[in-house]
Amino acid sequence: MIQGEAIALQANPMTKLPPRSPCSPVFSVAEKISLFSSIGIALAIALLLATQALAQSGAPPRGGASAHPLPRGFVRLRDVDPSIRQDIRYATPFNFTGRRVPGYEAPECILLRPVARALARAQARLVRQGYHLKVYDCYRPVRAVRSFIDWARSPEPDFMAPIFSPTIHKSEQFARGFIAKRSRHSLGIAVDVGLVRADEPDLPTPTRAGRCDGPFAARARESSLDFGTAYDCSSPRSATASRRVSADARTNRQRLKRALAAEGFRNYSKEWWHFDYMGTTNPLRWHDFPVR
Ligand SMILES: [Zn+2]
Repeated sequence: MIQGEAIALQANPMTKLPPRSPCSPVFSVAEKISLFSSIGIALAIALLLATQALAQSGAPPRGGASAHPLPRGFVRLRDVDPSIRQDIRYATPFNFTGRRVPGYEAPECILLRPVARALARAQARLVRQGYHLKVYDCYRPVRAVRSFIDWARSPEPDFMAPIFSPTIHKSEQFARGFIAKRSRHSLGIAVDVGLVRADEPDLPTPTRAGRCDGPFAARARESSLDFGTAYDCSSPRSATASRRVSADARTNRQRLKRALAAEGFRNYSKEWWHFDYMGTTNPLRWHDFPVR
C-alpha cells in the first residue's frame, strides 16, 4: 500500500535528518542532500498518488465503439434505439445476489444486431400505444451465469430473499426454473424487459424494496407498470399465465407479450419478463466478454 510506505519512510530512523537547532536557518551539505532526497521521494509518491486518484476518479467509459469494441455482430442497444429505457440490474447490487454480478462492468444492454433491431421495432409499436420498453438484462457473460450457479450452491445466507425470493429457497432455484446452467442471454438473443408509461419519468435503480410478490405500491419504487410481481421475482406468480395476479397485471403481461411476439420474440412461460428472439439465422455461440 503506497500510503503505508510513505508513513514508514517518515518513521524510518535512517531517513531522519541529523539534529540541529530549531532556529538555525543554515543547513549543512549532508542535511541538504538528505532534505532534497526526502523531498524527491515525497514528490514522487505525491505524483504517483495523484496519478492513481486521477485514473480512479474518471467515470467509466460509457459505450461507444471506440471505448470498447464489441465482438462481431453485437451492438449496444442505445446505439440502435436510445429511447428504450435501461436499468441493467446485474451491474448494480440491487439484484437477488446483493452484489454487482461478475462480468458486468457497466450498465449497458448489448445484443446481437438483429435482436436489437427487432426490439426497436417492438418499441415503435408500443410508443404508438403510449408505452416504452424498459430492459433489465440483455447479453450476459458466461462468467455471470457461473456466478449464479455458485451462489445457488453456496451455504452463504440469501440476504436478498425477503425481496427477490420470499417463498423459494435458493437451493430450489434450479429445480423451479429460475436459474439455469446455461442461459440464452449468453448467446446475445435473450432480453429481460418490462413496460413503463411513455409519460412516466425514469426513476433510478432502487436500493431497497418490499417483497417482489407483494402489493404493487409496497414493492420497489421504480418506474414500471404493474406486472403482478417485480422483475426477477422467484415466485410461481411470475409465470406469465398465472391467475394469481390482478386483472391489470395480466393485461400488462399480455400487452408486452403481444408486442414482442409480433417482432419474433418468444416468452419464457415461468418469467413474464424473459424473451428469446427466434429470428436469428446465423450459428449462435456462448460468449464471455464483459459488459462495458
Ligand atoms: Zn432472462
